[in-house]
Amino acid sequence: MPYPTQPTASHFINGAYVEDTAGVEIPVIYPATGAQIAVVHEATPAIIEHAITSAKAAQKAWAAISGTERGRILRRAADMIRERNYDLSVLETYDTGKPMSETLYVDATSGADALEYFGGLAGSLTGEHIQLGEDWVYTRREALGLCVGIGAWNYPTQIACWKGAPALACGNAMIFKPSETTPLCALKVAEILHEAGLPAGLYNVIQGTGAVGAPLVTDPRVDKVSLTGSVPTGRKVYAAAAEGIKHVTMELGGKSPLIIFDDANLEDAVGGAILANFYSSGQVCSNGTRVFVQKGIKDAFLKRLQDRLNEAKIGNPMDEATNFGPMVSERQLSIVQSYIVRGEAEGARLVCGGKRIERDGYFLEPTVFADVTDDMTIAREEIFGPVMAVLDFDTEEEAITRANETEFGLSAGVFTSDLTRGHRVIAQMEAGSCFINSYNDAPVEAPFGGSKNSGVGRENSKAAIEHYSQMKSVYVRMGAVDAPF
Ligand code: NAD
Repeated sequence: MPYPTQPTASHFINGAYVEDTAGVEIPVIYPATGAQIAVVHEATPAIIEHAITSAKAAQKAWAAISGTERGRILRRAADMIRERNYDLSVLETYDTGKPMSETLYVDATSGADALEYFGGLAGSLTGEHIQLGEDWVYTRREALGLCVGIGAWNYPTQIACWKGAPALACGNAMIFKPSETTPLCALKVAEILHEAGLPAGLYNVIQGTGAVGAPLVTDPRVDKVSLTGSVPTGRKVYAAAAEGIKHVTMELGGKSPLIIFDDANLEDAVGGAILANFYSSGQVCSNGTRVFVQKGIKDAFLKRLQDRLNEAKIGNPMDEATNFGPMVSERQLSIVQSYIVRGEAEGARLVCGGKRIERDGYFLEPTVFADVTDDMTIAREEIFGPVMAVLDFDTEEEAITRANETEFGLSAGVFTSDLTRGHRVIAQMEAGSCFINSYNDAPVEAPFGGSKNSGVGRENSKAAIEHYSQMKSVYVRMGAVDAPF
């Protein structure tokens, strides 16, 4: 146990930490050293059952209290997360390997933002009154019931909160299954929510692989499934949820385009491309990994990019000066390395990086390929690591067409000094979360999510409320009932 405030058991159910050592051991590895720092046990059928029955037992009373009361608890949890940001950031760094220079600013803090935002909205969730002559209809915005959240490993605290906050604000209970690669952070979210006053059973965390996720998705007592993960997993989970006609939110993978025009501010464009490819060592779903650079600016762009990559401080993630950490796991590192080999084999030009760094842990150099063409594997498949593919283009029309030639539709970005072109290009991007002269911002006030194979539904913003609640309409007749016989 590297840190005194780390979770004390594998699961958090019905307001308390729970252990069941009969479950298969899942080692927790610190990616910066490869050392095992903890063990959690995969949820057994008994643990899964305990979580479901606890959540079901608690949900109706939670939905019955006022939104303002629910929101107060969420906002209190947000404050507690901010007060404990340092400890939570250390845990996030142990879980993921991301440097403290990131985790201190974007993980627990964005989780707190979600709890604060949806806590604030909870009191204003209403239906409407529809007058129909003398009769009328009113609508009630009601909870869905029991929601299951399934997380990816890149933002374990944030994902736990982005799913939990709107679910709880709307009066649902949640069972959250973190990724087996990063099981620790969500437990702290559960602990804090209950310390803030959340009644027992409303936010439960259970551990495991897809073998635990799958029975949660198909259980008839579960009303909604929200997954953050890859497209292949999304297909399976979406299909399984469809069997039970369940509500779904799918936050899946991407291969997003970032289009840089000749007239872009060079420093901003290079900065945007760095944010779009190397933040969190490239392990961000919305990354703009196909960087289309107009031919007139290409040489200057690549030169400045190399200069700035040389300034990356790679190393111990606990050192706040470090700004580039390891990959999350040996497995993810080898997946990314195999893409680098493919890129070279298919004729892309390696501009910089490409090698594993000689030290403990799963460090890989920030890698840039130029002269990439649309048909190359590194331009088509999600790599989910620090590998940028630079593609050349001549005209705006060409860039738009090529940018959209993908199964994915999570994000898209454009850098240009021409304001009308910026809006014109973004309007034609087949993607859900877009950027003009910026990249990868995800404020809680804005909807986040993908189109095409990148997903369905939206997280964050008022849009998320639609995905965690349902409308009931009630027709009220004021006069006599006129029946045919
Ligand atoms: P993954 O698809 O391998 O796993 C995601 C989660 O699904 C894990 O918790 C896993 O245990 C679970 N799972 C696997 N099979 C399951 C099944 N049959 N039933 C139920 N649950 C199952 O993804 P990953 O490797 O953990 O994360 C990386 C992927 O996530 C990338 O593709 C990335 O783009 C995507 N991602 C998307 C977003 C987004 O918001 N759109 C955010 C972060 C990551």
